[in-house]
Amino acid sequence: MKKNYYFITLIVATIVAISGFVPSFTALAKDYTETVEASLNNEKSKELPNISILATGGTIAGTGSSTTQTTGYKSGDLAVETLIAAVPEMKEIANITGEQIVNVDSTDITNDILLKLGKRVNELLASDDVDGIVITHGTDTLEETAYFLNLVVKSDKPVVLTAAMRPATAMSADGPFNLYNAVLLASHESSKGKGVLVTLNDRIASPRNITKINTTAPDAFKSIENGYLGAIIAGKPYYYNHVARLHTTATPFDITNIEKLPQVDIIYGYQNNPTYMYKAAVENGAEGIIVAAPGDGTLSSKSFEGVKYAMDNGVTVVLSSRVGSGTVSPKEGFISSDSLNPQKARILLMLALTVTNNPKEIQSFYDKY
Ligand code: ASP
Repeated sequence: MKKNYYFITLIVATIVAISGFVPSFTALAKDYTETVEASLNNEKSKELPNISILATGGTIAGTGSSTTQTTGYKSGDLAVETLIAAVPEMKEIANITGEQIVNVDSTDITNDILLKLGKRVNELLASDDVDGIVITHGTDTLEETAYFLNLVVKSDKPVVLTAAMRPATAMSADGPFNLYNAVLLASHESSKGKGVLVTLNDRIASPRNITKINTTAPDAFKSIENGYLGAIIAGKPYYYNHVARLHTTATPFDITNIEKLPQVDIIYGYQNNPTYMYKAAVENGAEGIIVAAPGDGTLSSKSFEGVKYAMDNGVTVVLSSRVGSGTVSPKEGFISSDSLNPQKARILLMLALTVTNNPKEIQSFYDKY
């Protein structure tokens, strides 16, 4: 008798547990289906732009164990379908399709993933059925992927990256509105021809200018020295500034047939720094080195020794700065990264080395892009 009670209790508990979960899961799945189907069946759909959302992971797809957990959560957990389902408002402004490229913390974005993403973006944009692309990404290395795409996308159609500082499970998570804004931007005529765009916190920025400057704060992204392109206000993009540097269709970087990008490493400059980092980079096959030097690209005597060793071994060296803003002034015999921070200088050098290793030509790329 006791045993029967046990089983009945177990069955009832299971039904209660399942009925608690299933409706919310079904609601999400239904929302997603509705988002996609509504965009296909909606009367207005022929007039709405077709936007592909490519998801790569990050905090925007992250989950924590409580609504107040904003650190130590699992980044890159939710699938693109769930991200889309969370923002049904997008179907009012665009026909949405989703694609999962990878689902990782952005610190695990590799050169191979960059190439896969860049090729997929170009493939989609070449189709008349795609009007714009939104990419969801982790914030930690977002600026690197965005700048890479800014140099390799071969289309004037909008490509917009967005992210979140708070996981999807957090109270007042920033992901859903950022995603909505990204779709809004990608759908808008005025976003065409401006290169790749980045939006978080209602602001519009060029990947060349924007950088992550705070470890945890929701307003972690700033265009420190050169400003934002504009802002999204009441559901409308307002552009105020032009992109001065060349991008997308105006660069010589074609990744169509590139299977592997050259290895480029970043070496920090600091008091009492050794030279062996340079030796290690050369021995491990680096084709390029970015020096994250103090000040205006200043080399300590040890760094100078290391740089000379690398250059004597055929490695291209670019001087950048660890300062966080400003331009590294031109220096005789060296390539300067202009105002690109070390991580973006690395992206440009990898691409530059796919077309030349002539220092003058590489300097001209830093001057132009
Ligand atoms: N570590 C996370 C990532 O870059 C941080 C974030 O997305 O905010 O994937």
